[in-house]
Amino acid sequence: MTDTSRADELVNIPVFDGHNDILSRMMHEGRDGAETRFLGGNTNMDIDLPRARHGGLAGGLCAVYVSAASREQDANGDLPRVERQSAVDQTIAQAALLRRIEAQSEGAFSICTSVAEIRTAIANGSFASVFHIEGIEAAGPDLDIIHVLHAAGLRTLGPVWSRPNIFAHGVPFRFGHSPDIGPGLTEAGRDLIRLCNRLKIMIDLSHMNDAGFWDIARMSDVPLVASHSNAFAVCPHSRNATDRQLDAIRDTGGLIGLNFGVKFLHPEGRADTELDLSLMVRHVDYLVERVGIDHVGLGSDFDGTLISKKIGDVTGLLRLLGALRASGYDDEALTKIAHGNWLAVLERTWGE
Ligand SMILES: [Zn+2]
Repeated sequence: MTDTSRADELVNIPVFDGHNDILSRMMHEGRDGAETRFLGGNTNMDIDLPRARHGGLAGGLCAVYVSAASREQDANGDLPRVERQSAVDQTIAQAALLRRIEAQSEGAFSICTSVAEIRTAIANGSFASVFHIEGIEAAGPDLDIIHVLHAAGLRTLGPVWSRPNIFAHGVPFRFGHSPDIGPGLTEAGRDLIRLCNRLKIMIDLSHMNDAGFWDIARMSDVPLVASHSNAFAVCPHSRNATDRQLDAIRDTGGLIGLNFGVKFLHPEGRADTELDLSLMVRHVDYLVERVGIDHVGLGSDFDGTLISKKIGDVTGLLRLLGALRASGYDDEALTKIAHGNWLAVLERTWGE
């Protein structure tokens, strides 16, 4: 056997990624002309369309993220809640931006609501986006807006971001602490999970605390997915998945997507912008060992978190896949990690 792999090898396999924050990032930069900048090239961002193509990013979950007026923690260490009307306004604005990108793209960007549509978009070289919301503060206990958002293409949501809302308690960001912080689902949260199951909306557990994770595990009838989290055993951060959680993800045919954020990767929790790709490989190795090669994907968190210069931007996907190949992952395994597992778990969740 000839091994031609090198540590600096570039590997281009289409990537379908479990999490990006391009929408909130674009709104932060300014609503006017955001779609033009994204489609034409905007190097202030981790992702724009020209570099996505260059880096092999074929599509992914595009998250709506709503921000609170302040980021000041309360006495319990919780981040502040988002006021409902503000959340509705921000959610509609970002969902509309997703539409504007698609409308202006002349077929180069697609909003997909099924795996068949994702496959078609990728085959046509069109960016296959999926409308996702992390933290559903826009919904009241009646859940009416979920029906409207679903009709507008919403196919996946995280009940919480890392703060409390009326549905559950998002896990606060704490290094050296397990995700076991705070209570689980509220009654409204249980109603939300039942509705997501009925509408076949994927439920993302990445920002749930431990109690909420297990409440959902007990009642949900779809695979458990943590779209952008790492292994707690390698980096003991409250945002990462414990071994028990990983076992449940595996046992339900779910998926965990590798988060590129340095604070969720570094074993000592350091915001190390020189963090080596070998540490990302170490998380993948651990996850694959624990849940199996069919249940690990990527969940970059591009445009939403601090990423190592060794990745840099979306074109760093080529280097990450290269590092994984150099450490022994063959084409079949890389294809699963790059996009195959994501498409499979979405199919198991949404149906054909
Ligand atoms: Zn997130």
